[in-house]
Amino acid sequence: LIDKGQAEHSVVTTCAYCGVGCSFRAEMKGEDIVRMVPDMDGKANHGHSCVKGRFAIGYATHPDRITTPMIREKITDPWRVVSWEQAIDHVASEFKRIQKQHGKFAVGGITSSRCTNEETYLVQKLVRAAFGNNNVDTCARVCHSPTGYGLKSTLGESAGTQDFDSIEQTDVVLVMGSNPTDAHPVFGSKMKQRLRQGAKLIVIDPRGIDLVRTPHVQADFHLKLRPGTNVAMLNALAHVIVTEGLVDEAFVAERCEKAAFDKWRAFIAEERNSPEAQAAELGVPAEQVRGAARLYATGGNAAIYYGLGVTEHAQGSTAVMGIANLAMATGNLGREGVGVNPMRGQNNVQGSCDMGSFPHEFPGYRHVGDAEVRADFENAWGVPLHDEPGLRIPNMFEAALDGSFLGLYVEGEDIAQSDPNTQHVTAALQAMECIVVQDLFLNETAKYAHVFLPGTSFLEKDGTFTNAERRVSRVRKVMEPRCRYADWEVTQLLSNAMGYPMHYAHPSEIMDEIARLTPTFTNMSFDKIDQLGSVQWPCNDEHPDGTPVMHVGEFVRGQGRFMLTEYVPTSEKVNAKHPLILTTGRILSQYNVGAQTRRTANVMWHDEDLLEIHPHDADERGIRDGDWVGIESRAGDTVLRAKIAERMQPGVVYTTFHFPGSGANVITTENSDWATNCPEYKVTAVQVTRVEQP
Ligand code: SF4
Repeated sequence: LIDKGQAEHSVVTTCAYCGVGCSFRAEMKGEDIVRMVPDMDGKANHGHSCVKGRFAIGYATHPDRITTPMIREKITDPWRVVSWEQAIDHVASEFKRIQKQHGKFAVGGITSSRCTNEETYLVQKLVRAAFGNNNVDTCARVCHSPTGYGLKSTLGESAGTQDFDSIEQTDVVLVMGSNPTDAHPVFGSKMKQRLRQGAKLIVIDPRGIDLVRTPHVQADFHLKLRPGTNVAMLNALAHVIVTEGLVDEAFVAERCEKAAFDKWRAFIAEERNSPEAQAAELGVPAEQVRGAARLYATGGNAAIYYGLGVTEHAQGSTAVMGIANLAMATGNLGREGVGVNPMRGQNNVQGSCDMGSFPHEFPGYRHVGDAEVRADFENAWGVPLHDEPGLRIPNMFEAALDGSFLGLYVEGEDIAQSDPNTQHVTAALQAMECIVVQDLFLNETAKYAHVFLPGTSFLEKDGTFTNAERRVSRVRKVMEPRCRYADWEVTQLLSNAMGYPMHYAHPSEIMDEIARLTPTFTNMSFDKIDQLGSVQWPCNDEHPDGTPVMHVGEFVRGQGRFMLTEYVPTSEKVNAKHPLILTTGRILSQYNVGAQTRRTANVMWHDEDLLEIHPHDADERGIRDGDWVGIESRAGDTVLRAKIAERMQPGVVYTTFHFPGSGANVITTENSDWATNCPEYKVTAVQVTRVEQP
């Protein structure tokens, strides 16, 4: 695929797949990439890489790339190639028409974690300053929005507390709802290395993830809970810590709000939160929960790593708060080797949240209702800004169906494949009057679009990504954009056509503006990143070269705040019609909706979404390995091939969401997190039956 001989020059850039953010040297011969070499100086990867970052780059030059703008009047019409000028004028006039007819709130934008920080910043600025509303959202809505809410409420900052290297000081690793060896492979390897050195391991996951089956890695506890019971589990662990005298009283007294802690302690000590009272609900013996809680509280430096198995639930935000409570109660925050670490999925999901792409927050997680903050942005941008939160993605769909939201600009996100309950999503998209998709390929969302604007791959981008440890790294242009304009330039053109002028000459100027307006970025610049290799925010006068470990000495919010975490069982219940619970996740060789990994030449990418099912459930249904099975939920149905898997627990099935058509999201439901609307992808009641090959 690559390795085409001698390189002539090289460019150091950042992988555009997962939230580890590995640094690579792209070795070039002319305009061709000879090979991708993991960078020894990369602080997130120290010369390591996984197969995706090293080999799955062929999509950037794949013939499916669309490199010219296209428009059509109706989604049943054929696409018509037009000039950039015609396309931008068309979008601007359509959006202006919609706003004139239906009000300024009738349009909005969605940005994505595939975008650089600078691109995301410009999209939210376009929506707020040019559209005049706050209808901007990001794909983090469907993954880590509960992390933002939960960590901000308890610790004061919407981000992980540690750098990756901190795990070298960790004695107890607690992994909850995360599968690091598949989803974050380079950090997963680092974790295994630490475990092989003797660190203890607690895994909380319904499924036997690879970490519990790795040679020479013994999980001390694998709490194989039933999907949907995370909060009950976290409360049971906390109950043991509180009632067995394992609280770090000195840490709590010095660092946390007393009244909130006292209230939490009384709540968590109630017998109904004990492992024994919750054993049937959890499906985990009480003694295992007690053992894990004792190990976490007394085993030395303990660090929690969690993923979408925590956030993508009806109580996702509550579970994140429960995790922060556990860490505060045991003093496991504010130094190396401990902490609370959300394993961010996509390359720049952290950055997309930091850059103000939520409808209620400006860059730096400041609420749009805060008059002082809003005044700063109004002065800098020279326009009045709206003071109420805009529409979240699911609200946009609802508003489209009731006729009040009709124009949407989507940059780098395939909402028709990645959002839950596909039928509901596509009905909403069909109800809109102007959908603009900016992407590399004609993705599933583009089937409902009226305008297609070509986007650029990371190899054509200049800017920055922020990884799961808040590390801001440079993305450097390896080749010229195949479609004339960089993505930030397209947003700028659109803003100018809408009547709000933007005049950036280079993405570094956008970062300079971000630094001027964002307290956690005041000392950040391309020059600083180039000089230091990468910089972890906060990067300001207090921490001029960045901050590997946060909350040292005191929490960002001052004192840590314990939050009550009442367990409320999900409304998604098994019954006679749908007796199994479906949960979803990723595999190593594919990435999210697969738009990139499916378009690389390596044969190992040519796999499919499979349904993992326990032998007992398969036997009951006469299903053998490799059989086709129908999966039906109350939202829809699909067909996949079955994989008999001992690592599943009876009653729970599992699949991935990498391929269009098979569509895990055809069957996931509209349930979502109470605080953030993050979809409950991880719990869907289904029936599985053997079917003939479709
Ligand atoms: Fe890219 Fe993640 Fe693999 Fe690193 S671990 S090479 S960032 S996909």
